[in-house]
Amino acid sequence: MDHIIVKYGEIALKGKNKPFFEKQLMDNIIHALKGLEYNSVKKLYGRVIIKLNEKSDFEKLSEKLKKVLGIVHFSPASIVDLDIEKIKQKSLEFIEKDAKTFHVKSRRSNKSFPLQSPDINREVGKFIEEKTNLEVNFEKSDFTIFIEITEKGAFIYNKKFDGLGGLPVGVTGKVISLISGGIDSPVASFQIMKRGCEVIFVHFHNLTTAKAIVKDKVKRLIEILSQFQPKTKLYLIPFGDIQKELVKTIDPRCRMIVYRRAMFKIAEKILIKENAKAFVTGDSLAQVASQTLENIQVIQEAANYPVLSPLIGSDKEEIIELSEKIGTYETSILPYSDCCSMFIAEHPETRSKLENVKKQESDITKLVDKVVKEAEIINF
Ligand code: ATP
Ligand code: MG
Repeated sequence: MDHIIVKYGEIALKGKNKPFFEKQLMDNIIHALKGLEYNSVKKLYGRVIIKLNEKSDFEKLSEKLKKVLGIVHFSPASIVDLDIEKIKQKSLEFIEKDAKTFHVKSRRSNKSFPLQSPDINREVGKFIEEKTNLEVNFEKSDFTIFIEITEKGAFIYNKKFDGLGGLPVGVTGKVISLISGGIDSPVASFQIMKRGCEVIFVHFHNLTTAKAIVKDKVKRLIEILSQFQPKTKLYLIPFGDIQKELVKTIDPRCRMIVYRRAMFKIAEKILIKENAKAFVTGDSLAQVASQTLENIQVIQEAANYPVLSPLIGSDKEEIIELSEKIGTYETSILPYSDCCSMFIAEHPETRSKLENVKKQESDITKLVDKVVKEAEIINF
């Protein structure tokens, strides 16, 4: 194999944004493959072609490509001249051991090639039947030989490896993700990355959670998520002083709600600084007390930008499955104490009222500026 052909979601990439999306995908691929051996990354007829060299290690390249969002699938391929005899000969190298049936599927992007796709399929199929014991079967074949006719030559391959799909990170803008150490928010962040957003993370910790162990856990989660985007930033915000101020005036049953409101007020400063466009949270409707419709309304009233909660309609089981798939589950279930469990009533309010909460809420404007300045920033 001398090339890797990378396919992306063509439907999503139609229209005038296409060149921009393709450029971002190529940049992200180049970033992901940094330090690995290959010759070049180029665009060709709605595909990205990675040209390999003698030192290229397909396994290593493949491992990285599997984490680049926007890739639907990719195939190791060989290139030959645009000559049907050479194509036939090369196709013999793509026969699978122990197979009985096969079929040929070609695509002619370069219309100057004299044979049309069905002719190529027939000629190559007949040739392989003559040279081997294999039989063509279109309905049910053991393997497929793919041939793509381009201006550069004919690419031949027989394997497709699945990518993650979605859109290339960076094409839809930046968002601020409120990340806890739990299961949900890492998955929510991934879902939004998959829609092309660069995700910047903000985590709040207090005196009890500031212990190395919690920071370490969050850092490990972000490290896993950082594999899916070219660059990643985490803000660790000290939340203890704010909580101490808030608990003075707030009914214990409403504390969680007021903590969450404060989180949005602080995160907004970072959103503006980073030129991001929305927040992301791991909320799932009615999963916990803070996630009733009433409480979501009161919490999100404090946010002046859209709040994206992609898991809002997901069951816990579905979320766990996704977290296992992206690799965050094992870290998410490690024990830790979330800052929000501090000074929380045993039976929190599930139907809070905005005017009631606002009446009790103290002015934390000054503290907000202070904690943003004190934030620890980690780049991955
Ligand atoms: P998760 O599994 O993400 O912790 P959860 O179901 O446990 O979610 P909550 O703990 O109530 O629900 O949190 C709801 C959302 O609020 C989280 O998904 C996250 O987006 C945000 N959040 C909670 N705690 C923090 C924190 N310490 N720092 C930043 N964001 C937080
Ligand atoms: Mg939680």
